[in-house]
Amino acid sequence: FKRMVLASRPQAEVTPDNFRLETVEVPALQDGQVLVRNHYLSLDPYMRGRMSDAKSYAAPQPLDETMIGGTVGQVVESKHPKYAAGDFVVGMAGWTELAVSDGSDMRKIDTTHIPLSAYLGPVGMPGMTAWYGFTQIMQAKEGETICVSAASGAVGSVVGQLAKLKGCRAIGIAGGKDKCDYVVEELGFDACIDYKAGNLRADLKAAAPKGIDAIFENVGGEVFDAALARTNAFARIALCGMIAGYNGEDIPLRNVRQLLTNRITLRGFIVSEHMELWPQGLQELGTLVATGKLKYRESIAEGLEGAPDAFIGLLKGRNFGKQLVKLI
Ligand code: NDP
Repeated sequence: FKRMVLASRPQAEVTPDNFRLETVEVPALQDGQVLVRNHYLSLDPYMRGRMSDAKSYAAPQPLDETMIGGTVGQVVESKHPKYAAGDFVVGMAGWTELAVSDGSDMRKIDTTHIPLSAYLGPVGMPGMTAWYGFTQIMQAKEGETICVSAASGAVGSVVGQLAKLKGCRAIGIAGGKDKCDYVVEELGFDACIDYKAGNLRADLKAAAPKGIDAIFENVGGEVFDAALARTNAFARIALCGMIAGYNGEDIPLRNVRQLLTNRITLRGFIVSEHMELWPQGLQELGTLVATGKLKYRESIAEGLEGAPDAFIGLLKGRNFGKQLVKLI
């Protein structure tokens, strides 16, 4: 079977030769192990951080080993008492078609009402990220205005929909007219600003006439700065990501004074450090997806060989919705 390993560490932008496709033998299964065939691999911005060996909240991805990544798949053979052939599972098998596991890094999932791939999106880590930032940090009340960047993406799309369900005014920021149209027309946000159109500040002012009470920040830099300039007193900021700086770019902020003058609470967070809340969050998100109240969109690349380009595209905003790789 095929797997993708990290061949070298990127200096700035990721390039295809940072990856290497390998063919490996299926190992014989030992007692207590399961063999899983992965159907979808999730591509996520955090992988860029793991490709570097700079100090971070998580250890770097080792060279010449299977790239880290979330996966959903099906058990093909089991010598583990808790799993049987045919079970659908979500786990962290990485960029690989097949994986042997002792079962501790995965869990069974029910695909009766929720599509398999959704467990990597709105009912998986990205959805949980949105849920955590929205419920635990933004704490937005009915009638308040919230703003979320990368609004058409896996995380941002969920933030705005949770805000609408709560009775908030939801403003998105996204790159390009197509993404903005989708955010308003399909996802039901009140407004979405195309930051590439060149009128970010004025457009944001028009979209949030009463100011912004809570920000969910995914991008950093100019986009964050514009939202910061529109904050109200006692605004809350869930600092989730700063993708505009993941290749080492400067992401300057000018409106830092707002943090003081508006008595703002800003909190960064890493969703995997709050596992105790995942069952509750995923339960709520699962119900919303199963009942059609939470919509999502996917960009699907074909085959493991397509993963590097799709990942590079994700870091340039070429994805439209949750970026996945279809492996089967
Ligand atoms: P998305 O599906 O949102 O894809 C990334 C998007 O970022 C792109 O499509 C692009 O959309 C947008 N973007 C904005 N500015 C830039 C820029 N300068 N360069 C490249 N892309 C840009 O990804 P996710 O939903 O998976 O992740 C969103 C954010 O959440 C990321 O910052 C990620 O790191 C963070 N995150 C944080 C977690 C945590 O625990 N703290 C967990 C999971 C995700 P557009 O075309 O609209 O610009």
